[in-house]
Amino acid sequence: MRHRIAVIGGGPAGLTFARVLHRHGHPVTILERDPAPDARPPGGTLDLHEGMGQLALEKAGLVAEFQELSRPEGQAMRILDADGTVLRDWQPRPDERANPEIDRGQLRDLLLGPLDVQWGRDVTEVVPGTRDGVLVRFADGRQETFDLVIGADGAWSRVRPAISSATPHYTGITSVETSLDDVDTRHPGLARLIGDGSMAVYGVNRALVAQRNSGGHVKVGAQFRAPLDWHAGLDLADVEAVRSSLLALFDGWAAPVLDLLRHGTAFAHRPLYVLPVSHTWTHVPGVTLLGDAAHLMPPLGAGANLAMLEGAELAESIAAAPGPGDLDEAVRAFEEQMWARAGRWAKITAAGLERLVSPDPAQALAVFDEVQPS
Ligand SMILES: Cc1cc2nc3c(=O)[nH]c(=O)nc-3n(C[C@H](O)[C@H](O)[C@H](O)COP(=O)(O)OP(=O)(O)OC[C@H]3O[C@@H](n4cnc5c(N)ncnc54)[C@H](O)[C@@H]3O)c2cc1C
Repeated sequence: MRHRIAVIGGGPAGLTFARVLHRHGHPVTILERDPAPDARPPGGTLDLHEGMGQLALEKAGLVAEFQELSRPEGQAMRILDADGTVLRDWQPRPDERANPEIDRGQLRDLLLGPLDVQWGRDVTEVVPGTRDGVLVRFADGRQETFDLVIGADGAWSRVRPAISSATPHYTGITSVETSLDDVDTRHPGLARLIGDGSMAVYGVNRALVAQRNSGGHVKVGAQFRAPLDWHAGLDLADVEAVRSSLLALFDGWAAPVLDLLRHGTAFAHRPLYVLPVSHTWTHVPGVTLLGDAAHLMPPLGAGANLAMLEGAELAESIAAAPGPGDLDEAVRAFEEQMWARAGRWAKITAAGLERLVSPDPAQALAVFDEVQPS
């Protein structure tokens, strides 16, 4: 008899899991809260690492398509100081494929392929151990049961409380994101400053990061240390008020760098939350977590890669389980492997964030020198 398997969430973790399981001929129910794939902007660009996100795509049989879509030139990285002086300008070799970039929307569509996602399914609660299996409750009052429920529903997971009491906490560093369109024609000076990939500017307790997406679109993140309520009295929906407030926060920085904020079209406030480093739980039969739901960490290039690799590995473990009684053992073994690797990355990214948005901007440069290939 086939297992009834549900994955909650159609992000990188859930879709990679479903796609690899589908490749092995196993049915899986994909339950996603968004009403449609394009219901909200898909977000920026992701660099997929060899041996992580790229390995997951190999397991999904999607390497050739990824090579068509991805941007190896997006690996270029430029570091400036707050005066606008270029401190590092790293260009990838023409054959460099260690961390090519891909737009999130393109990755989502690539993973979706033949998958049949149930859109508009907002999960509110998961109850393990009922007579008929694991119960999933939805916001519209419906409920369904499965043999295995996988929580790939991100930072504020509704599956996580079924197996862990951990909740994300604020890092003390927040981010305000904006974006620019048609940068090459509308803002050629900024386009040259940013280059083909990413540009990061580090000052005292502040950072401005600009990342090129495809089609001349640029995402900008203004990161700074601040209490969660730093915007008290500021209407976050008022674009000009947020712009003025950010320009005041980055006062004294070089004018070309501040143009990133002057030309931003809209602003979104995204405080950086994390789960405890080395988050684990006592194994609960029938429920597990993947990706940010299991190990939310600072956005330093690991989260989506881990999410995808975990999705692929869990799918392969389940597909390889010899009999129905072996499903739980496959999940248990996967969890041990996930916890060990994610724990290492959680430590690396937590330390990295502290140094990137730091009282001593030289620390940020040191981080770059440590991770960048020579
Ligand atoms: C600014 C920024 C830049 C980043 N850059 C990178 C990078 O370059 N490389 C990298 O590896 N990582 C990066 N990350 C981290 C990466 O975005 C995440 O780690 C990754 O998206 C996690 O994938 P996920 O599938 O676990 O969760 P998510 O991407 O959060 O997906 C969760 C899905 O679950 C759905 N969902 C949520 N709640 C419910 C519910 N109740 N019922 C049903 N569905 C639900 C959501 O709608 C969503 O589709 C970045 C993060 C940020 C914020």
